[in-house]
Amino acid sequence: MSVVGPAHVATVAAREASSMMATYRRYPATFVRGAGTRLWDAEGREYLDFAAGIAVVQIGHAHPRWVRAVTEQAARLGHVSNLFHTEPQVALAERVVGLAGWGRVFLANSGAEANEAALKVARRATGRPKFVCALGSFHGRTLATLAATGQVEKHGPFRPLPPWFVHVPYGDPEALAAAVDGETAAVLLEPILGEGGVVPAPPGYLAAAREACDAAGALLMLDEVQTGVGRCGEWLAHQGSGVRPDVVTLAKGLGNGLPIGACVARAEVAFAPGEHASTFGGGPIPCAGALAVLDVIEEEGLLANCRAQGERLRAGLVEIVAGSGAAAEVRGRGLLVGVELTEDLTPRAVVEEALGRGLVLTEAGARTVRFSPPLVVTGSEIDRGVELFETSLRAAAARTSEGGAG
Ligand SMILES: *Cc1c(COP(=O)(O)O)cnc(C)c1O
Repeated sequence: MSVVGPAHVATVAAREASSMMATYRRYPATFVRGAGTRLWDAEGREYLDFAAGIAVVQIGHAHPRWVRAVTEQAARLGHVSNLFHTEPQVALAERVVGLAGWGRVFLANSGAEANEAALKVARRATGRPKFVCALGSFHGRTLATLAATGQVEKHGPFRPLPPWFVHVPYGDPEALAAAVDGETAAVLLEPILGEGGVVPAPPGYLAAAREACDAAGALLMLDEVQTGVGRCGEWLAHQGSGVRPDVVTLAKGLGNGLPIGACVARAEVAFAPGEHASTFGGGPIPCAGALAVLDVIEEEGLLANCRAQGERLRAGLVEIVAGSGAAAEVRGRGLLVGVELTEDLTPRAVVEEALGRGLVLTEAGARTVRFSPPLVVTGSEIDRGVELFETSLRAAAARTSEGGAG
């Protein structure tokens, strides 16, 4: 039904079908250019980007500072492997340790790899087999991080998965405490379920997890691949909770689209020489890009902007939800916000309507539309996005009920 760039999209989709594994169910748009919070498709149509990839493009598309850092680094030195020292890598590690306030960093290329490193850190540090994770969580697509992922529908044909991953209901401190025992290497949790539908941990949950881990001698590991790097209004989403984890993982927002992930572990449990490695991890170009991301967040006051615009976004969405039978709840923190829809409306229907109207959104979980604009988003862009969402929600609801009647 969408009218987004039909001819070009159809051509590209046909080429993909005969050349690529069909792993992605894509929306009908081919983007060719971006600037700040704006995207343009192959037909020259402009979009307001409230997705930022999947909460990745933290400082906006083609930020001049990031473009300069990446191109200058590419022109100077692109790669030498981790057999040698490189300056951008250690500079980034120092910055990441600075924003966490503790730890030692291993640099990888993705969120799954950062989590994979975290799992190995915990195994090695404790010698124990078991990991406790949450139902509804998402930690990646490698075999171990898929086993950690608490969305069993994604396990599908990949069973048997690595054993010793136990899942408990998210947000229930008693269930968590009951699962953590003398065999537990670590508890791995997201401070807010991202892919699981933008579900924040209830107050006290992370502190309860810390307590359970301390009682059992297990590590507390927080997957901040989606919530970190300012996305929720602080450098790391757990920082307001007062809880100190043993391991934190980052990825999505760190490189503004360049492939980079980070596993930050307390110095006492960090890897020793030869125990872990990556050919590409922490390469000069992604590190130069990530340094620019951290500089821009700091210098442009984007943590404060994230909090302010996040509040404005949630206030606008709460009003829409109050006046609509199609949406039930607004959740989230900073600029990671979800609107849960009522039973008969799919998030895909709403996201497709929005795309047709020039607003890019994503789905999260089975029932939720996710808003994760770049942290540079302005108040008037928030208002415009809220307005477009309202129209899209209404149109999708009307179409769904038509479909139901017909
Ligand atoms: C996206 C995501 C991952 C996986 O990251 P990849 O870069 O796709 O491997 C892991 N954990 C969380 C919380 C995520 O949102």
